[in-house]
Amino acid sequence: LIAYAKHSGRAVLLGDVVPRTEDEVKRRDERYLTYGEEAKRIAFTAPLSIITQKDKPKPDVPFQLFSRELLTSVDRALEARGHVFFYAARRGLAPVVACIDCGHIFRCPDSNTPYSLIRTKKSGEEERWFVSSTSGRRVKAADVCVDCGSWRLRERGIGIQQVYDEWTKLRPDTPVTLLDSETATTPKQAATLAKEFFTQRSGVLIGTQLALPFLSAGVAVSSIISLDAARSIPTWRADESLFRLLLRLRECTAKEVIVQTRSESDNLLIHATRGAVERFYDDEIALRQMLQYPPFSTFILLTWVGTSTSVVELEQPIKVALTDLPVQFYNSPNSSTGKAQRHGLIRIPSADTTLYEAALQKLRNLPPYVKVEIDPERIV
Ligand SMILES: [Zn+2]
Repeated sequence: LIAYAKHSGRAVLLGDVVPRTEDEVKRRDERYLTYGEEAKRIAFTAPLSIITQKDKPKPDVPFQLFSRELLTSVDRALEARGHVFFYAARRGLAPVVACIDCGHIFRCPDSNTPYSLIRTKKSGEEERWFVSSTSGRRVKAADVCVDCGSWRLRERGIGIQQVYDEWTKLRPDTPVTLLDSETATTPKQAATLAKEFFTQRSGVLIGTQLALPFLSAGVAVSSIISLDAARSIPTWRADESLFRLLLRLRECTAKEVIVQTRSESDNLLIHATRGAVERFYDDEIALRQMLQYPPFSTFILLTWVGTSTSVVELEQPIKVALTDLPVQFYNSPNSSTGKAQRHGLIRIPSADTTLYEAALQKLRNLPPYVKVEIDPERIV
């Protein structure tokens, strides 16, 4: 878009509640001009309340997904014929399934990432699937542990279907709409579901990231059911995405945004409660500068796979090909002994175009088993 505007001699106006940190840096450096007044703080009508849940699960009583404070606010909103939105970060019933007896975690053989457990209903028949969002692989969920044969498998973490189950158990009479990648496979279906929800007099919408663009009609109360689940998604942009989510919810909520968490509040949450965008960027920019993250560096990520010993052997020719380049080598957290994934991360300071050119030259000498990504969203 910017290239097109440059070509045709037009001005481009970029706008968002929380623009990307890269764009904010350009604005602060005056490579982008500021339109109107600089926003230090944004005032929202709905306050952001943080509820720290301290209850401990017992064998017969699991974690309470809905705190008493949240239930009170939601009941009040529904009585006043309002709409309510629950945000759930992870798809399916649970993001991880593990064996209670030996600790085995079910993983996708292609990507080695843990399988999510997803429930589907086909002509009244309930089916359970293991799904990998990384590789797209979908297989029937196992009943027993492949390692020790135990039947005692446990779901770990909170998926959207679990939020749905808990809510319908607590309040069976409220109309509930579920909006995720299972109920809406196309943007059109998502728009239809959202439209139906808002034409109802009142009700609860439970949705993932997918639901966020459809909230502009406004809800009375919104809530992040588990902030910890929302935080467990590993990208280097995670803080920015979370801050954007929090402000997006405040933007389209009239009465109250409630965030439930099991960890202590930190600066990001405090900035979000105050609408302090400028302070958020101060912190985020300082952190990215310190860690040499974009926009201060260009990431070049190398990835190769093998057994835990072979990935280290395979590293040698890579080191030779890339001599004099600053490469950081590490194993992916999803690695196991049989199947390991190793990365090499090169950070090139953004101003150093000579080094970037030199690096591109050297990348051409890499062995063919190495995958190369420039500026990837994830580095683990
Ligand atoms: Zn087992």
